Order: sequence, then structure tokens, then C-alpha cells
Amino acid sequence: MQFGTKLIHNGNEIDKHTGALSIPIYQASTYHQPDVELRQDFEYSRSANPTRQALENTIAVLEGGKRGFAFASGMAATSSVLATFTAGDHIVICEDVYGGTYRIVNTLFKAFHLESSFVDAADLPGINRAIRKNTRALFLETPSNPLLKITDLQAAIAIAREHRLLVIVDNTFMTPYLQRPLELGADIVIHSATKFIGGHSDVVGGLVAVNNEELGNRIYAVQNGFGAILGPQDCWLLLRGLKTLKLRMDFQGQNALRLAEWLARQKPVQQVYYPGLKEHPGREVHFAQADGAGAVLSFKLRQRDNALRFMKNIRLAAVAVSLGGVETIVSYPATMSHAAMPEQERLRLGITDNLLRISVGLEECEDLISDFGLALELD
Ligand SMILES: *Cc1c(COP(=O)(O)O)cnc(C)c1O
Repeated sequence: MQFGTKLIHNGNEIDKHTGALSIPIYQASTYHQPDVELRQDFEYSRSANPTRQALENTIAVLEGGKRGFAFASGMAATSSVLATFTAGDHIVICEDVYGGTYRIVNTLFKAFHLESSFVDAADLPGINRAIRKNTRALFLETPSNPLLKITDLQAAIAIAREHRLLVIVDNTFMTPYLQRPLELGADIVIHSATKFIGGHSDVVGGLVAVNNEELGNRIYAVQNGFGAILGPQDCWLLLRGLKTLKLRMDFQGQNALRLAEWLARQKPVQQVYYPGLKEHPGREVHFAQADGAGAVLSFKLRQRDNALRFMKNIRLAAVAVSLGGVETIVSYPATMSHAAMPEQERLRLGITDNLLRISVGLEECEDLISDFGLALELD
């Protein structure tokens, strides 16, 4: 079955009890147990809920995995995965990881003695050098946020295998439609489903997929024990969002490419970062492991003041955090997604004050280009 068909027909789309073509929102916390000596599939909704289960099975199928898990947010998903490690374990993380991941690793998990090293994952020998005796996992995100740097997943996974590390990939920017890290040998895939999977800027959620039962059991123990589960209403919204994932990603990706090419020709623009552009240094590696460039791009204006003026001038696009919705969103990493990062570190990573990140939506591209054109009339 092709991926687009799987989005609609994956075995989880019909309610087992009524035949309804939309999984009901099982708004129940507990379930009648006719025989207390028997275990039932559903006993208490922190442990399992039918709406959540439909979503969890769906993400497992779409990522090519065995087990799926739904969490209250992308950060709840990431935190729950990290909570499967033990004090004294060490993980190697790509340095331009999502700002919230950077923050919890350096604060919350540091307090629980989970050790970490941040590396430029595009530099494979650098990954090797960061591995210690107590290293247990490699945490990757490609394309990275907000500079769209590409990590060679297969090469990084090969290094991890040599050292028997688990490989965790935050696949939020690509979604399982464009990139399936489990099929490339990764062990755990994480999504902020708030973004493209939900797709409509109306729900916060997180998903995890794994293709190993033992690992699945460990994550389930945290999900059920720690309890950062996604509620049934929000699970339903994600199930609904997923049905149009391919259509949205295709259109938004086309828009993103056109906008990126157009931006690259504009005088006030210093540089555009988008893996779909011919001149992107990671383009070849990216297209060897993914089926499209996605709908997030970033660009630098020649001056910081111009970035601020651009955001004041823009009319159609919203200025906001987040990405992956139907509407185009402009965000300013320096004070938004990467505000938690010390300034010196942020600047070292190239997340400068003249950088803007765009999540390209479903508007007609002509309208986006004219909006951006007006916003770029800076003086
Ligand atoms: C937004 C985001 C997260 C965090 O997800 P939330 O749903 O906001 O908790 C993690 N990783 C990436 C790449 C993101 O864009």
C-alpha cells in the first residue's frame, strides 16, 4: 500500500463496536470489569483508552514500527523517552536540537544525573569522539531547527550500532510521510504532533514509535507510571489531522520551495536555509533519506532591525511560535524557540538576531509572495 492510502486505511480507522468511520472520542476514565480476576484491554484510561489506542497503533503503522505511544505534548514524549534512562547514563545529542529538548536535558534531567554531550551531528567523527563508556543513546534531529542542517542518519546509526547505543530521532519536521527513521535502523522516533501531524494549530500532543517490544515495554512503563498521556479529544484531533497529512505536506512543500527560491533572489535577504534548494549543502544526504524537503525554511536578513521590521510589516502570515499548521507562521528563534539557550551558545550555532523561521502554510503561493514582498520593503 502506498503511504497516502495507509493514512486512510491502516486498520485503525473503523470503530470495532459500531462500524463508525470515525473513531469515537471515548471520554471515559474507567471501565466496567465483569470478572475482576481477568485482565481486560481497558481498565483505566491512564493505562489504555480506545481513542488513544487507535492513534498509537496508527503512528506505529505509519512509522513502520511495532508500538506507538501518545503523550500530552512533544516535550512529554521526549521527557518520557529520556525517563527510560538511569542516573549515570550518558547521551549524545545534536547541538541544534529543539530548544525545549536542550533546556530539559540541561536542567531537569541533569538534576537526575542523566549526563549529556552536545555535538554537531553533521560531523561524524565528532559523534565518535563524544561517546563514553556510559553512553547509552544518540539523539538526533534532521533537518535541524532552525537552520535545517542535515545529519546523515544511516552513517550516524552505523556509529551508534558499533557502540550499542539506542538511536532516538525527533522526526517532527519531516513526519512519517517524508522520513521514516525506524526503517533506516533508528530505535525510537519522537514527534511533536502539535506540528504537521495535527496540522491545524489546534492541539498540543506528542507521539513516539518504536519497533522493538522490549523498548516498547520500557516506554509503556513510563507512560503508564509517569502518566503524561494525551486525552481522548486531542487523540481524535490527531487522528483526523493525519488523514490529510500527505495532501498538506505536498502542497505546503511546493509552497515552501517556491517561497525559498523567491526569497533567495531578494536583495535584503542574506541567506536562505531550505534543503530543497539546489545550493543547500545537505541536499544530497537529505534526499537519500527523505522523500521531500518539508515546509519549514529559514532565512537571514542583512540586519537585525530588518528582521524586527519584517515581522511588523507582514500581514497575511502570523508571527508566532510553532509550525506545521495550515497557516503560514513567521517566528523569531532568538527570542522564541531558542530563548532558553545562552546567547553566546545561540550565536555560535548561527541562530543570530537577523534569522527568521517560516512554516509555510496552505495559502496560495502568489499571495504569500506578495505579502513577503511588501514586508521586505524595509526602508
Ligand atoms: C515543537 C517541537 C517540539 C516540542 O513539542 P511540543 O508539542 O511543543 O511539546 C519538539 N521537537 C520539535 C522539533 C518541535 O518543533
